[in-house]
Amino acid sequence: MSLRRAIQLISLALFLFFLIVASTSFGSYLPVDSFLQLDPTHFMGTLVSARYFSLSFLTAILVLLITLVLGRIFCGYICPLGTTLDGTDKIFCPSHEKRPRLGNLRPIKYYIIAFLFGAAVLGVSLIFIAAPLSLITRFYGLVVYPVFALFADGILSIIQPLADRFGISSLVFAQIKTPRFATQFFILVFFAAIFASARFSPRFWCRYLCPSGALLALVSRKPLLRRRVTEDCTDCGKCVESCPMGAIPEDPCLTLHEECIVCRTCEKVCPVDAVAFTSEVPGQPSHGVEFSQTRRRFIASGLTGAVTAAISLTGLKAVSNQGALGQVADPRLIRPPGALPEKEFLSRCVRCGECMAACPTNTLQPIWFQAGFIGLFSPALNMRRGPCDPECIRCGEVCPTNAITNLLKNERIWAKLGTAVILRHACLAWEHQKKCLVCDEVCPFDAVVFKDEPEHEVPVPHVIEDRCAGCGYCEYFCPVQNQAAIVVTPMGALRQSRGSYEEEAKRQGLKLVLRPKDEYGLPESEEKDTRGPAPGFTE
Ligand code: SF4
Repeated sequence: MSLRRAIQLISLALFLFFLIVASTSFGSYLPVDSFLQLDPTHFMGTLVSARYFSLSFLTAILVLLITLVLGRIFCGYICPLGTTLDGTDKIFCPSHEKRPRLGNLRPIKYYIIAFLFGAAVLGVSLIFIAAPLSLITRFYGLVVYPVFALFADGILSIIQPLADRFGISSLVFAQIKTPRFATQFFILVFFAAIFASARFSPRFWCRYLCPSGALLALVSRKPLLRRRVTEDCTDCGKCVESCPMGAIPEDPCLTLHEECIVCRTCEKVCPVDAVAFTSEVPGQPSHGVEFSQTRRRFIASGLTGAVTAAISLTGLKAVSNQGALGQVADPRLIRPPGALPEKEFLSRCVRCGECMAACPTNTLQPIWFQAGFIGLFSPALNMRRGPCDPECIRCGEVCPTNAITNLLKNERIWAKLGTAVILRHACLAWEHQKKCLVCDEVCPFDAVVFKDEPEHEVPVPHVIEDRCAGCGYCEYFCPVQNQAAIVVTPMGALRQSRGSYEEEAKRQGLKLVLRPKDEYGLPESEEKDTRGPAPGFTE
């Protein structure tokens, strides 16, 4: 195995390891978002769209500086998407199969970056559409990880009877959560298309579409370490054929340095050892091909800017009716605890899915268009999938752009998500005169009280709004099938860019008092239906 392959595999393994531990309590102690911090598109996009700079962006700046000197080694050695494509390319188009010749598609990636930055200038972040680290984190976190968990759970259920027989109690009671995510199928189809594009060229995504590749190409036109060809070259063309990035034009002595990912395949295949990757030797000419900006590219970039502006305006309209606290346009959209005010949140969130993969109750889900086009794939809570643990801060810990504030434990309970509302027409007590105490029993904040009301045979529930944190325990446990009879709305959600949540909550008169954990308890399994009757519910 070559050194490059070894580095690629170690890098991919580390990326996956961070993704897995992000969903465990160890995630708090490790830099689980470090790969996302390396992506220069995240850094530049967030800087421009949110006018926000974080020290963690220094790693992306370092990547740009290294590229200046060593060329696109990030693409060739570190990027988990690049490594994944190197693997899938072999499956989707083995090297012996002939590929059709494509025209010059390389400018597309520059148009994409122009598109993204055009939107970012107007304060709209669309980098989630194409930023490679965001895409690959979403793929592994929301598609591969659930399948892997399902598989592991299947194996566990096979070995558990054996463990029982041999008295290995730690295995007998072990549980593997199998999360499910909305938009999974779409992400799968999108990636299937990227993988299948290997039929046209290896690393099709990196060559023609990747905006981070375009950014790195812009700074790697003349790297210090670069491909050089000696007079021994016999013009056999083997290197031209084998270059995965198409960085060697018809004359094998030339190199498109901005396209080269320093994989050194040309060096390996050269039969006369005429290729070497060295720093500049004084007096030796550097055979580079000039990167030319065509007029068409400029016109296309202009058009891209116009499209961006149109989409930006649509997106901005979707959040224009936000209140002073940054509430969302959709009456059912509940953002994670500590999420910035909506407009700021959308300009920072890169839709990597880290928070969703890390969420222990699977309540955080990617959304479609509930927040307009600019809200696509952003995280929101689905209380029917799971409640939001009032003491959990996992999503804020793993968010690479601080779109979700990394709250201190003592601040967390004050980050009110919304307020529960009883749908009386669906409620067993209000509508069907049946005795049900579920929402009262499970509420961690004692925010639901049952009272006698005229013309009702049984006590009926009421929500005390200033005691409700919008955690969704009531909605999750409500025994009414499908649509719960009590739902959390974003009404009264506390979202702020800075300052203490506790102080703001108290200033607003909130009385959030958390019961001891053993009094309300977390769901033991995500499969509610298998747990038998919900607590507190009697016929
Ligand atoms: S809010 Fe979630 S999806 Fe958005 S950047 Fe943070 S971790 Fe990624």
